Amino acid sequence: MSDCPCLPKCPFFNDRMVGMPTMANQLKDKFCKGDNAECARFMVFSSFGSERVPPTLFPGQVEQAKRLIAAG
Ligand code: SF4
Repeated sequence: MSDCPCLPKCPFFNDRMVGMPTMANQLKDKFCKGDNAECARFMVFSSFGSERVPPTLFPGQVEQAKRLIAAG
């Protein structure tokens, strides 16, 4: 368990959840400071790089990430 390598630049971590601090902190603890390999955003980043990660993709949207990766 370690901080996600995307943390410094990840829009989700840095500003996407401004209006939802409780949920944001739960997700950050679970994914960004924990299991980042399970994060949907990280999955797309790992496959294609940061430019291909949709800004609206949430860490828990793994099925959507898998579809994006499968589609290439
Ligand atoms: S775990 Fe996901 S949401 Fe968190 S910093 Fe990494 S890519 Fe961004």
